[in-house]
Amino acid sequence: MKNETCPNCGSTEIIPVLRLEHNGILEKTEDNLYVELAEPEPTPRPRFWIQKNQRAGLRLSMCGNCGYCEFYSLEYSLMLEAYKKGYRSKRRATRKVC
Ligand SMILES: [Zn+2]
Repeated sequence: MKNETCPNCGSTEIIPVLRLEHNGILEKTEDNLYVELAEPEPTPRPRFWIQKNQRAGLRLSMCGNCGYCEFYSLEYSLMLEAYKKGYRSKRRATRKVC
């Protein structure tokens, strides 16, 4: 929708490149919110190996008529390239409840 028509109301009054903000503590990065893919671990795992990551900042477009919003990224081709190489989202460590 970033340069098109709102799928909700049909308006062409689209605000295309909105940076997402967050009130919490964030890592230092140009894009406050992002998605990330991590390189698969090679087998056998080398003694010294540093996992590579591909990160894509998230942007948002908003309909100026009804407020409908969509996420998109400017780094989509890098993410697709990494995905085709086997990169996947990391799993967050689960918290243990004491
Ligand atoms: Zn709309």
